[in-house]
Amino acid sequence: MPFNLLKYGLSSEYPVDVDLPAPKELKPAYDVVIIGGGGHGLATAYYLSRYHGINNIAVLEKSYLGGGNTARNTAVIRSNYLTSEGVKFYAESVKMFQGLSNEFDFNIMYSERGQLTLAHTDATVRAFRQRAEVNKHFGGRTEMIDRQQIRELVPTLNLDPGHLPVLAGLWHLDGATARHDAVAWGYAKQAAKRGVEIHQLTEVQELVIENGTISAVKTNRGTVRCGCVVQAVAGMSSQMMKKAGIRSPIQTFPLQAMVTQPFKPFLDPLVSSSALHCYVQQTGRGEVVFGGGSDPYPLFNTRSTLDLKESLLAHAIEMFPFLANAKLMRQWAGITDMTPDYSPIMGLSPVKNYYLDAGWGTWGFKSTPICGKTMAELVASGGKVPDLIKPFGLERFSTFAQVNEMGATAASH
Ligand SMILES: Cc1cc2nc3c(=O)[nH]c(=O)nc-3n(C[C@H](O)[C@H](O)[C@H](O)COP(=O)(O)OP(=O)(O)OC[C@H]3O[C@@H](n4cnc5c(N)ncnc54)[C@H](O)[C@@H]3O)c2cc1C
Repeated sequence: MPFNLLKYGLSSEYPVDVDLPAPKELKPAYDVVIIGGGGHGLATAYYLSRYHGINNIAVLEKSYLGGGNTARNTAVIRSNYLTSEGVKFYAESVKMFQGLSNEFDFNIMYSERGQLTLAHTDATVRAFRQRAEVNKHFGGRTEMIDRQQIRELVPTLNLDPGHLPVLAGLWHLDGATARHDAVAWGYAKQAAKRGVEIHQLTEVQELVIENGTISAVKTNRGTVRCGCVVQAVAGMSSQMMKKAGIRSPIQTFPLQAMVTQPFKPFLDPLVSSSALHCYVQQTGRGEVVFGGGSDPYPLFNTRSTLDLKESLLAHAIEMFPFLANAKLMRQWAGITDMTPDYSPIMGLSPVKNYYLDAGWGTWGFKSTPICGKTMAELVASGGKVPDLIKPFGLERFSTFAQVNEMGATAASH
């Protein structure tokens, strides 16, 4: 290492790692057009190009890479869901996240810290026991812990906040975080290296559907013909589905988060409480991140509100009273596409060759690798839905086969 440093230091010429090639003109046609340059769209492009030999792909992003929810989320990665379908799916994603830095040769700052969810009522304790058992059944590291164990794990946590004393906790050792921009950039760099074209500032405005089959997309830079399209636009999912003439069960709500000045390390695990509608975590830089539930009304807007700040911080301070003196540095919001059962929508659509990656609500960052991988398999096979994502098809809303994750999503994301 010191030798290499010296070599590069003394050399006037050394290879400069170019992140993304300079933007080009759009080609008239691509085999695959991916709408949305967030983590999901970029991951799908990467797995298609790396593992299926499909490289004639354009990722069209109306803004900048990862500038949607990917760069706005609080980076919680976990698999302690409630349903067997959910646990199996997210557990695969956690495994993939663990190897992502190696796969990219680029540090995504994966940090396994465990996630603690607090139970304040007997009903929650019972629900958590069920989650722990389902998780263990599918190989997840999740168990119930008591007040004493919680105290040892998080000494700074107030176990008797106001009217809601903590009774027990769901301790999920696989809980982790990763640097969200790095995930987007890792996928983008590796996809671009394999010939995928990534076009920023390129908005898909209309979809051309002929005889029930997608044939082209119209953008602010012209029309592009395509063999198939993957829609991965998160908060804009319902709007894009409308352009495709697809009825959607999605409603869109803003979701806010905020962060304080840095502190010395005091909190290793991610801590959340659905009864207090709040989760708290400390970043590697020492800042404390707070998040909670979505705003209570549907809206396509990324403004921050004083209402949310007041209610969220009141609860956060109940959990960690010493934070009452902290200085808040930033507050922000994203727009999230919520489904009625709090599970995503992945797979086929009523339009031929038009594939859906939607309904990621407040929980989609953690699924980025597995969603990209399975969506790539779906596209490469010409529409054969991989078993892992079969339960998440759009048709479940008309066949009464919903995958209800409401209890395991709430304020934990
Ligand atoms: C505050 C907050 C906290 C969150 N915390 C967590 C968390 O801790 N853990 C977790 O797992 N999830 C979390 N989420 C949810 C998570 O961020 C999203 O589910 C996930 O990022 C979705 O990824 P994506 O790639 O599908 O979407 P995005 O990153 O939003 O990418 C979609 C892209 O599509 C582009 N686009 C939209 N319309 C068009 C168009 N017409 N043409 C071209 N491009 C278009 C957008 O500009 C955007 O860049 C959180 C979200 C928010 C807002």
